[in-house]
Amino acid sequence: MKEKQIILKKRPCGIPSEENFDMIEREVREIMDGEVQIQTLFLSVDPYMRERMTPMKSHMESFGLKEVITGTMIGKIMESKHPDFTEDDIVSGFLGWQEFPISNGTNIRKIEPLPVPYQAMLSVLGSPGLTAYFGLLDVGKPKSGETIVISGAAGAVGSMVGQIAKIHGCRVIGISGSDDKNAYLVNELGFDGAINYKTEEDIEGELRKLCPDGIDIYFDNVGNEWINNITKLINPFARIVLCGQISQYNGETPYIDPKIFGRITKNRAIMQGYLISGLDPQRSEAARSEIAQWILEGRIKYTETISDGLDSAPKALIDLFHGKNIGKQLVRLGSKIRS
Ligand code: NAP
Repeated sequence: MKEKQIILKKRPCGIPSEENFDMIEREVREIMDGEVQIQTLFLSVDPYMRERMTPMKSHMESFGLKEVITGTMIGKIMESKHPDFTEDDIVSGFLGWQEFPISNGTNIRKIEPLPVPYQAMLSVLGSPGLTAYFGLLDVGKPKSGETIVISGAAGAVGSMVGQIAKIHGCRVIGISGSDDKNAYLVNELGFDGAINYKTEEDIEGELRKLCPDGIDIYFDNVGNEWINNITKLINPFARIVLCGQISQYNGETPYIDPKIFGRITKNRAIMQGYLISGLDPQRSEAARSEIAQWILEGRIKYTETISDGLDSAPKALIDLFHGKNIGKQLVRLGSKIRS
């Protein structure tokens, strides 16, 4: 049997293009004792993958040239010679952008039936959902009546942060790159206001209007110059959660006004990074249960932007940097499945 795989053809300079990837066909070998063969159903497409396309020293390894791209995925066991897995089990894992990966069981885990479609394990119940949950609750520490501003607000992480902050009684203001996204944030997700950074010329003025009581939490998913505006409006003991820097992953020149440090000092504010890796499994299970319950109660909504076919994966990744997605960007290889 043969399978298709997406490999890194050449390293990008700036925003990647489809020329940086190649789709190849390789023979699929027989599995050995202790292994499973998986049919890939969904691939997660994430901003951090851009960083892995360039050699770097980070918490994750770079992709090797001519090697298959790896990331989180959902699949179905096709054949098992592993005692813990049987045919038709649905698993989540960290595997390749390929049709039929083989695993020895260490990088996959069985997904028990869920109240939502299985691919939610890559979005609202997966890394983006848990990043939002713990980044906000552990670092942002929201209190009822406080104001939070979220950048990258209509994305997988940002849209969850805003809704969890609403559950905790905050005033929630989002910054995103389109009017459609902002209409979704305000009308569907219950945000109190939203700014379109691509059309708004006076972001600081707009923030002043939308945050009349100042800013208590800034949840930053983009890592750009807005931090300069935000710090002018922070309240004493404000918290700034550094979650992601998507505006920097393609090598743009950072613009940080050194005055932000004085504003942080004077307000005794805290600026802290958050990283999902290394999360205690018991805490993540408890968070997943709470998020699932919120979904069942209609307090959390989520959206997925799904592109079809393995060959659509490179464009889906590139599209993240052009803001084409609302909510979680996924690639579907299999047919629709429900738990
Ligand atoms: P996402 O927000 O669903 O998708 C990326 C969005 O970023 C795009 O839709 C686009 O929306 C916006 N964007 C792209 N380029 C931008 C730029 N130059 N300036 C401003 N906005 C830009 O992605 P996600 O998976 O939820 O990730 C959001 C952030 O969290 C990323 O920085 C990611 O690396 C980070 N993250 C961190 C952790 C962690 O453990 N710390 C875990 C997961 C993700 P617009 O239309 O609004 O431009």
